[in-house]
Amino acid sequence: MIPQHPITSDQSINIGENACDKPEEACGVFGIYAPEQDVAKMTYFGLYALQHRGQESAGIAVFEGTHVHQHKDMGLVSQVFSEAILEELPGNLAVGHTRYSTTGSSRKVNAQPAVVESRLGNLALSHNGNLVNTIQLGEQLVKSNFNLVTTTDSEMIAYAIAQEINSGADWLTGAMNAFKRCQGAFSLVIGTPDGIMGTRDPNGIRPLVIGTLDSNPVRYVLASETCGLDIIGAEYLRDVQPGELVWITETGLESFQWHEKSERKLCIFEMIYFARPDSLMHNETLYSYRIRLGQRLAKESPIEADIVFGVPDSGIPAAIGFSQKSGIAYGEGLIKNRYVGRTFIQPTQSMRETGIKMKLNPLKDVLFGKRVVIIDDSIVRGTTSRKLVKALRDAGAIEVHMRISSPPVTHPCFYGIDTDTQDQLIAATKSVAEIAKQLEVDTLAYLTWEGMLETTREDTNSFCSACFTGNYPVAIPERVKRSKLILEKATI
Ligand code: SF4
Repeated sequence: MIPQHPITSDQSINIGENACDKPEEACGVFGIYAPEQDVAKMTYFGLYALQHRGQESAGIAVFEGTHVHQHKDMGLVSQVFSEAILEELPGNLAVGHTRYSTTGSSRKVNAQPAVVESRLGNLALSHNGNLVNTIQLGEQLVKSNFNLVTTTDSEMIAYAIAQEINSGADWLTGAMNAFKRCQGAFSLVIGTPDGIMGTRDPNGIRPLVIGTLDSNPVRYVLASETCGLDIIGAEYLRDVQPGELVWITETGLESFQWHEKSERKLCIFEMIYFARPDSLMHNETLYSYRIRLGQRLAKESPIEADIVFGVPDSGIPAAIGFSQKSGIAYGEGLIKNRYVGRTFIQPTQSMRETGIKMKLNPLKDVLFGKRVVIIDDSIVRGTTSRKLVKALRDAGAIEVHMRISSPPVTHPCFYGIDTDTQDQLIAATKSVAEIAKQLEVDTLAYLTWEGMLETTREDTNSFCSACFTGNYPVAIPERVKRSKLILEKATI
């Protein structure tokens, strides 16, 4: 049976008017080559596990020889697909996508995979990330008379590959030539009649992993995160490396390095917040990393209190770590209504105003008369945090201390995460003391930048942390910068 999206009513208290007080996710991509399997259904479940990465639209394209069957629509994976629809998608290999729009508006036509014709047949492309040179790329494509039907950078990449192939290249050469024309963040899964390609940009800003099915011959799966492998019983093999192309066909997996000077700059926000806590990065679950973030936070910013808890769900591992290090009792102070789904669905302002309300219910008898520490993974605008603090005080908390398991977000993201323009980021214009005053907390402390990176136990240079520093690993063209770096306009 395919799980259906749960829709219920609930009795909990509305705390936030909207739930867009967090950076919005990127996208989820998935691909599988397994002629012996029901590839459409496996892709469905892979996307189901990656739903947290994008909730606006979902799509699957399946290759049956040279023919592409596809279905995509607005909505959650469980809303877009049914058993009947999946049965109409037979084939050897499939690619899938869950989308949150960072480039291009939230419309069905922009749903992925993007299917484009080329001299060698159709290709179906799923993209996670954001290009920063779309103007340049668009001009190159218009010269070749490509008629862009969507407004996404993903379609541009698909057409750039088709352009190379139409000029005489084979699949691999054409794809690698096209990747070299792209700048920014891109983790791609591309279906063709002959096999599936997977690649990451030369900095590997967005994740992409390879898994294997327990089969003979060995069949391969690509997914944004390992949770997309786990759900279909695939074994994690390794990450796709920055600047690497993997080519998965009937004969197995081949690897090509198309960019010689690759330098890993994985988005640190993937580790702090975006990716699922049960996903593996650097050979451990992100749950473990987030526990250590909480421990480091307790060491850096201790406080006396009676109870510590996290903002569900993303603040919980760090709250457990904070409790372990500080000795303050861990509890639950807020209960989340788990049946409303994630509320970070709609990206436009008009949709935000009418969007689903965030629902967290304070546990009054737990909070009454207590000095509480509330842990969150980040503060973007601060609007929801302020309402949370008020709700805790209304429930009887006598002191509210807020601890954040990442540094202040001062700069917008250009690589596929929607953190709005700089002027909307509370930490871009206010000091920590000013933010504490605005949120009406007794104390507020953020994790240090060093603390966040050292806690990874990896080379601290191997991460993008530009939204905390403004040091962007891939140069942002001036025109693109101006769209988001509002406060730095004068100096741009
Ligand atoms: S700017 Fe921030 S959100 Fe964007 S890729 Fe870098 S670390 Fe991630």
